[in-house]
Amino acid sequence: MKAWIGQHKKDLFLCLSMVLVVAFLLLCVKLWQKQGGYVVVTVDQKVVGKYPLQKDLEIKIDAHGGYNTLVVKDGFASIEDADCPDKLCTHQSKIQCQNETILCVPHLLLLTIEGEKAPVDFVIWIEKEWCA
Ligand SMILES: [Zn+2]
Repeated sequence: MKAWIGQHKKDLFLCLSMVLVVAFLLLCVKLWQKQGGYVVVTVDQKVVGKYPLQKDLEIKIDAHGGYNTLVVKDGFASIEDADCPDKLCTHQSKIQCQNETILCVPHLLLLTIEGEKAPVDFVIWIEKEWCA
């Protein structure tokens, strides 16, 4: 056994460091998920609300005589309902990554994801990979 370990020291070391790297990556992803960001709601270029993505919520936003229902769930933001004529905003995919947007043209409503500044470069890299 000792001889075997001696022979495979390098392999073992490699495996162990890979496990550590993966664990570290997972930890960073977890940290990043916790940090998340927030969704900024603008109507006619005026900011009317800012909501953290970590907290589930459903809110009706008045916009140009109509409404859009913003839903934040599991870190994603989306428009679940609206009374705009085209309803295109309700069909747009959920957003969670920095600078992603959902636009409702008839209501001049724009959702933008803005993230908190990540403290470590490494985490920023993961965020980019995640959102690519
Ligand atoms: Zn719309």
